[in-house]
Amino acid sequence: SAIIEVDHLSKQYANGPRALDDVSLNIDEGEIVALLGPNGAGKTTLISIICGLVVPTGGTVRVGGHDIRTDWRAARKLIGLVPQEITLEPFETVMNTVRFTRGLYGAAPDDAYLEKVLRSLSLWEKRDAQTRELSGGMKRRVLIAKALSHNPKVLFLDEPTAGVDVALRREMWQVVDQLRRDGVTIILTTHYLEEAEEMADRIGVINHGTLLLMKPKAELMGEFGKKH
Ligand code: ADP
Ligand code: ADP
Repeated sequence: SAIIEVDHLSKQYANGPRALDDVSLNIDEGEIVALLGPNGAGKTTLISIICGLVVPTGGTVRVGGHDIRTDWRAARKLIGLVPQEITLEPFETVMNTVRFTRGLYGAAPDDAYLEKVLRSLSLWEKRDAQTRELSGGMKRRVLIAKALSHNPKVLFLDEPTAGVDVALRREMWQVVDQLRRDGVTIILTTHYLEEAEEMADRIGVINHGTLLLMKPKAELMGEFGKKH
């Protein structure tokens, strides 16, 4: 059944463009969905609304059956968001960083769960390192660990590989593949077709605030004339 239900969503920014126009989509548990579109298409606006950071001008969003307007506290427990920008406390250790974030969500301490998260992101050996000591790829993985710290059902990755080099992009793809094996539901935004193709089960193409199509990858790649 659908963990995310988006119904006729629209967003008109005050003094800005109509960033979303009547977008509807459902996402099932365990799915990996890529929202593919050029800069300014409305991808960040869409995930920011689902994550409760931006208020829509029309439509509804349910997360795990909870309406984000009326039942935000329940909905937010189910969501983890990895922002585009790297925002880490440089002098904090990796373990403390994820503990702290888990606390912000009001979740009870659970170091055994956090160990599992850090291990699956290959960060366990670095648990006592300060975040400033980490490589760019590791910092990105710490952001993912923070977003998973309260054991959410859905993980949002906003342009996980924007502005990173090829090696780091491949590393992120492997991380997503590991999360897939762990059964995490993932919604990511990207402007690279190759990346959507590499990571997602289903691809939604968005432009000028409109969801142009949403199809299983195999079907979509068929239409682009590729073989898989
Ligand atoms: P994408 O993530 O696909 O690049 P965005 O959702 O960031 O697209 O932006 C969609 C459109 O809304 C763009 O034209 C952008 O300039 C505009 N926009 C985004 N955020 C704001 C804001 N806070 N105020 C006004 N306009 C905004
Ligand atoms: P301020 O707003 O005064 O900068 P915060 O309320 O953001 O402080 O943080 C309070 C304490 O928690 C500070 O000691 C800060 O170093 C630490 N802290 C803030 N954010 C994080 C984080 N993401 N991970 C670990 N520690 C954090």
